[in-house]
Amino acid sequence: MEEIKVFCPATIANVSCGFDVLGLALDAVGDEMIVRKVPEKGIHITKIKGQDLPLAADKNVAGVAGLALLEQSGYSGGFEIEIDKRIKPGSGIGSSAASSAGAVWAMNELLGRPFSNLELVKFAMQGEKLASDVAHADNVAPAIYGGFTLVRSYDPLDIVTIPTPPELYATVIHPQIEIKTSDSRKILKSTIPMEKGIRQWGNLGGLIAGLFQNDYDLIGRSLEDHIVEPIRSILIPGFDNIKANALKADALGGGISGSGPSIFALSKGKETAEKVAQSMRETYQKVGIPFDIHVSKINAQGVKPIV
Ligand code: ADP
Repeated sequence: MEEIKVFCPATIANVSCGFDVLGLALDAVGDEMIVRKVPEKGIHITKIKGQDLPLAADKNVAGVAGLALLEQSGYSGGFEIEIDKRIKPGSGIGSSAASSAGAVWAMNELLGRPFSNLELVKFAMQGEKLASDVAHADNVAPAIYGGFTLVRSYDPLDIVTIPTPPELYATVIHPQIEIKTSDSRKILKSTIPMEKGIRQWGNLGGLIAGLFQNDYDLIGRSLEDHIVEPIRSILIPGFDNIKANALKADALGGGISGSGPSIFALSKGKETAEKVAQSMRETYQKVGIPFDIHVSKINAQGVKPIV
């Protein structure tokens, strides 16, 4: 195989109580990418459609992640990459992660799969480092493995895949305002009171158990973040109303997607997820900021070929 076209999923990091460790992949939102083998060494990004992003390999996350893989591969040639960018950068649904994960997954396929998923996550994390100065894995891990993933440890890197209940859907609203990841990190406190920690890891354990047991009520009860959301949500106009009305429309729960400004809700069944989308639409029309809304099944596969 000399060329492959792939779907690179958008991802929701944190998922409420799993700050910096939990993430999930979406199915209805993502970029497309064509990757082909070429004799010239290095990564050559030849086309980017949809967004104004750098073509230079060392300035684009797809290039940086790809170069990290190339260095370890022993392959004497290089790769050409075309990106159809459908996830807006800075939206909080893993725009940079989609490109980093898509590039290394596709290259691994073209080389005959010499690398494991865990190794691909490590390469993709180099792209994340370029985007936000931190080599975090909570978006690239679900983008590569699919479904829900837990970053149990960074040193050594240990990714745990979590099963997805079959009827689980996500609704995501992206208010079109810019929140810099660095700003939304700066406002967080570096210590947490013990009592908040206890509530948070109780919820994270509950969420993981709910996902394993297909227990939608437990998932809903556990989608509570006592540490980050109360602080970060101040940066997102209309957050409290969006969340309250999503719950009234029967969402299981929700929160901030990644570092925002996107807000997500999880629901049992597509019909409820659509009802939640409608409630978000009605709520946000009153705020007066343009927005996009997506309803998506959880993507079990991660990056996948488009045939
Ligand atoms: P999101 O908040 O949606 O996860 P990020 O903030 O992680 O998005 O990443 C966006 C940053 O990464 C921007 O500064 C953007 O210029 C940079 N970037 C570099 N290459 C890419 C790429 N291929 N796709 C998206 N963003 C990229």
